Order: sequence, then C-alpha cells, then structure tokens
Amino acid sequence: MKQKINSRLLFISMVVLALATVSITFVYYGLFQEQVKKDLRVEAELLKNAGITEFVKNEAMLSNEDIRITWIKSDGSVIYDNDANAEYLSNHLNRPEVDAAFKRGVGESVRESDTMNMRTFYYAIIMDDGTVLRVATEARSLLNVFLSASGIIIFIIILIIVLCIFISHFLTVQLLEPIKRLADSIDDNSSIVGYKELEPFMNRIREQHEDILASAKSRQDFTANVSHELKTPLTAISGYAELIENRMVDEEKVIHFSAEIRKNADRLVSLINDIIRLSELDHKESTPEFVSLDLYEIAEERLELLRSNAREKNIQISLKGENCMVLSNKGMLIELIDNLVQNAIRYNVQNGMVEVCVDHNKNHAVLKVSDSGIGIPKDEQKRVFERFYRVDKSRSRETGGTGLGLAIVKHIVEIHDGSIELESEVKKGTSITVYL
Ligand code: ADP
Repeated sequence: MKQKINSRLLFISMVVLALATVSITFVYYGLFQEQVKKDLRVEAELLKNAGITEFVKNEAMLSNEDIRITWIKSDGSVIYDNDANAEYLSNHLNRPEVDAAFKRGVGESVRESDTMNMRTFYYAIIMDDGTVLRVATEARSLLNVFLSASGIIIFIIILIIVLCIFISHFLTVQLLEPIKRLADSIDDNSSIVGYKELEPFMNRIREQHEDILASAKSRQDFTANVSHELKTPLTAISGYAELIENRMVDEEKVIHFSAEIRKNADRLVSLINDIIRLSELDHKESTPEFVSLDLYEIAEERLELLRSNAREKNIQISLKGENCMVLSNKGMLIELIDNLVQNAIRYNVQNGMVEVCVDHNKNHAVLKVSDSGIGIPKDEQKRVFERFYRVDKSRSRETGGTGLGLAIVKHIVEIHDGSIELESEVKKGTSITVYL
C-alpha cells in the first residue's frame, strides 16, 4: 500500500509538472514573441519618423548588431542594408512582410533562422516616399526556450521526487494509522473506524470475526460434550465388564450386567450415528439432490413403524391432513418425522396421544407433531434445539435419547430454508410445527 501511494503520488506529480512546464513554456513564449514583435514595430516607427535617410548618412548609428535594417525600393531592389552589401542582395518583393507593407502599409512575418533553434522576426513599414523599411531581429525558438529551461526543470523534478518520498511516507503513515488501530482492536465494537467509507467494510469484518469466534466456540463445546457423552456409557461398560471378568458377580447378575453392557453399547451406537449425521449435515456441499415427494405418504409409512414404540405407554398415534408434495430428500424427511414423533412418544404420559398433521400453507408444506406429554418449561423452549441440550437428562437417557434429535431436525429444516415453531405447556403437551 505504501509503495502504491508513493508511486501514484510520484506519477501525479510528474504529470502535473510536465503539463505545467509545457503550458507555462507556451504561454511564456507567446508573451515573449509579442514583446519581440512590439519592439520591432517601435523600432521601425522610430526610424520612419526620424527619417531613415538621416540614419543611412550616419551609418554608425545603424550598426546595431541585434537589429538588421533593410531599405527597399518599390520595385523590390534593396537600397540599403546594415548587415550586407545592398548591391548583392536579391529582389525583396517576394518576402511576405515586404509584399504586405507595399500592399497594406505594414507587414510582419517570422521565419526559421539558419542558426539552429533560432527564429527571425521581420517587421516592414511603408515610408512616405513609397519605399519600404524592414527591421528584423533573431530570437530564440520555442524549443530553444524549452531546452534552456531544461536544467532548472531537471532540478525541480529531482526536488519533487525527494519531496514526494517524504510526503508520501508521512501521508501513508497517517492514512494507515486508523486501519492499524482497527486491526488491533477488531473485537472492540466501540472503536471508531476513522473513515466513514470503511465503516460497512469494518462492520462486515467484525460480523465475520464474531461468527468465526462463535463457530469455534460451538465446535469446542461440541467436542467437549461429545467426549463427555461418550465417556459415560464407556465407563459403565468398562465397570460392568470388569466385575464380570473378576467373577465378582453371581450367575443372575451376569445376565443383568450383560444387558446393561448391551444397553450402553446401543447408546454409544446411536450417539455416534447422530454425531456422524450432524457432521454430514454440516457439510452443505454433500447435500443430496432434492426430488418431489409426498410428505403425507412418508408420514403414513413412518407412523406404521413407530406405533410399536408407543405401545408400551398405550399412546394413540393419529395422522391427519392431506397429500402434500414437497421438494426434498426422502432420508431427511424420514429423520425429521422420526425425531419429532419419537420425542412426542418419549416425553409423553401413560395413555397419552400423538397427533401428526400434514397440510399446506401458502408456499409451504406444514408438518405438525402434537403430543399430550410432559411439556417443556418456557425458559428452556429455545434451548432444546441446541446440541446435547436436554430438559430432563435421566429421562432422555433412559428412553434412548441422545440430546441431538432436535438439533438434527433444526439442521434439516435450515437446509430446506424452512422454519420451526414450538408451542409447549408443562404437563399439558408440546406441539412442534415445521414449515418446509
Ligand atoms: P433427546 O434425544 O434427548 O430427545 P432432542 O434434541 O430430541 O434430544 O430433544 C432435546 C430435549 O428437548 C429433550 O431431552 C427433552 O427434554 C426436550 N423435548 C424434546 N421434545 C419434547 C417433547 N415432545 N415434549 C417434551 N420435551 C421434549
């Protein structure tokens, strides 16, 4: 960035300097030319008014090295020239300034000199006797003026380069200072950006930074929770196995402990399955292709299988609604229905009921699972969608819950760009509505 500012500043200065030099040279040369012409005019008028013959008589007065004076007859032949012998000079009628003077009284012209980078300025004026008096002088050409200034121009360029290096150094330090300050205090929302234009950019960075921190924290929490969740059944399995190994239990207890070992192993399997499932859902790139599916038909299929789970507590399961097509993946819909209905059975009461309803609502397919169970206290309703969050830990474990079911549901709904609503009242029941 520093280098860029340096080089740009230098570039701008060079362009400005070049433009300024060229335009000033032009303006100056224009003025200079005017002055030369004016001097010649004055000189010619002076000679005319004083009477050229007087001067010609006294040649010493005309031996001015800077000004050439030519006196021309009306036929173009030269009567007198202070720089050359008049006899050898050719006819001057073809000189534009002389021609113009004969025709209009005065004439002027500028011609390149034989001398390099010099120009000759001519001014001719008609005399009272019909002859023409011409005065001429040599002056620098534009290139000459420019070249003569080149030394000072090079000096100014070097001076500007040095100045630019210094100025751009201070400028970049000043410009970058607030950005540097921000980089150091990216967590501090109260710190002022210093540049209004950078504010949206900084807010975006802050948001992203917060997201990264939040996701790192949730990953950390998840890892800690997973380790803890896996440790509990593994410790139990290890303990029971140790007792059996050391023959510290009688025959009857062996069967009981073996059953406990199996139960804990099953728990581990469902935990690991849910963890794998969540991590699959986290990888959005691996989302399977969506096809058109009938949500009602799938719900009917799943309820058939889940009814056996409900028998133990004599829970009635019913399905209402109508056929409803939804763009989805069958595996995901099965997971969604199973998790919601299993919870409705798991957290229900003896002789309770579960009602599943499939319906349309504007552009959405609606799946509503209601139960007459234990309900969820108000202050915990938001948290039940968090990974491993359980209202009643022991009840969840006893009934084979992993604490990940609703997190999976939430994830699936998010993949569908859908939404979830939860209504619940303790001891009355819960109803979870999913819009896909
Ligand atoms: P779990 O495997 O423990 O059921 P979930 O993520 O499915 O995990 O649910 C999280 C918690 O939310 C459960 O432990 C339970 O306390 C509560 N919960 C979920 N569904 C219901 C329901 N239908 N009625 C009452 N509580 C529920």
